[in-house]
Amino acid sequence: MTRPIRAAIDPSALRHNHAVARRHAGGARIWSVVKANAYGHGLLRVARALDGTADGFALIELEGAVVLREAGLRQPILMLEGFYSADELPLFARHRLTPTLHSLAQVEAFCSSSLPFTLPVYLKLNTGMNRLGLNEDELPAALARLANSKRVEAVTLMTHFADADGERGIAWQQENLSAMGRTAEHRLPLSVCNSAALLGHPGCGGDWVRPGIMLYGASPFPERQGAAALGLRAAMTLASEVIAVRDLEAGDRVGYGGLFTAERPMKIGVVACGYADGYPRSAPTGTPVQVCGRRSRTLGRVSMDKLCVDLTDLPQAEVGAKVLLWGGDAATGLSADEVAAAAGTISYELFCALAARVPVVEL
Ligand SMILES: *Cc1c(COP(=O)(O)O)cnc(C)c1O
Repeated sequence: MTRPIRAAIDPSALRHNHAVARRHAGGARIWSVVKANAYGHGLLRVARALDGTADGFALIELEGAVVLREAGLRQPILMLEGFYSADELPLFARHRLTPTLHSLAQVEAFCSSSLPFTLPVYLKLNTGMNRLGLNEDELPAALARLANSKRVEAVTLMTHFADADGERGIAWQQENLSAMGRTAEHRLPLSVCNSAALLGHPGCGGDWVRPGIMLYGASPFPERQGAAALGLRAAMTLASEVIAVRDLEAGDRVGYGGLFTAERPMKIGVVACGYADGYPRSAPTGTPVQVCGRRSRTLGRVSMDKLCVDLTDLPQAEVGAKVLLWGGDAATGLSADEVAAAAGTISYELFCALAARVPVVEL
C-alpha cells in the first residue's frame, strides 16, 4: 500500500500546448522554457515529450542542461541567467549551451575566456523590468566587445516583459527596446515574448519566443482569460483519495486552529494531501476541490499531510473516494488557476511547489 496521492503528467497535453504556442508564434522559433524542473513537471519527461517539436529548451540550471545533453537532446539550450562564474564556461563549451549575458562583467568574462570555444550568446537588455539586463548606455560597449571576441558566434538581443499580463502592457518596453536597437549598429535577432506576450499581444514579434506556463496548460492571465478559453490543456493532474470520513455536529471545529466551525451537522473527508506535498497552506476554507467528480470545497487549515473537504452533499463519498486537487480536462476537471486564485497565488507557484515525495506517473 502506498499513500494515494499522485501527480499525473500528460505528454500529449504538453505537445498540444506547444502546438498552440506554434500557432501564435507567427514563424518565430520557440524556446520551450523548462526551468525549475519544467515548472515541477519533470525536466527530462517534458523535454522528451517535446523532443520532436521543440526548437530549443531554455532553463536556468546548469545541472539541468547537462542532464538534457546526457539524455541525448540535441536542440539549442538557452541559459536564462547565463553563468554565475567563469568556472562554468568549460561546461557551456562542452555541451554547447547558449549563455544569456546580462551584465558587462559577464560579457567581459565570456569574451576573455582563454578556452577555444565559439558559442552563440543572448545579450539581455533592461527595458523596464529593472532586474537583469544592460542599460542603454552600456549597450555600445557590450556590442563592441562581443564583435571583437573570437568566442562569439552570433548575438541575439533579448528582453523580458514586466507586465505583459497587466495594465502597462508591452508597448512601452518595445519602444525602449527599439530605441536601444537604434543605437546598435546591426539589425540583430530578437527574443522578447513570454507566454503572456505570445497569447495576449498577437504579433509581438521577435525571432525566438519563450513560452513557459502555457506549455503546462495554465493561463498567464487567469483573471482575464482562462486556460481552456486559450485552448490549453492541463499537463499536470494532482489527485489523491479520502482516507477518513467523519460526521460533525453543529459547533465542531476542524483542523489546526479550528479555523472552520460547522454551523449544522456535516460530513467531512480527510484527504491525503497537505503542504508537504505542495498544496498551498494559504488555501482558505472554500478552495475548490473535486470529490467523486463533483465539486466541493476545502474546510479549515491545510496541514502538512492532510486537508479536509466537505462531503455533506456527497453521500456516496467514502474512504477511498477519488479527490482531484487540480488538473484533468477542461470540461470535467479543475483548473490550477482557480485553485491558485483561491489561495492567493498563481499556477506557476503551485506547479513548482509539487513536492519530491509525490509519486509522478506519466499518462
Ligand atoms: C521564465 C521565463 C520565461 C517564461 O515565462 P512564462 O510566463 O512562464 O511564459 C520567459 N523568459 C524568461 C527570461 C524567463 O525567465
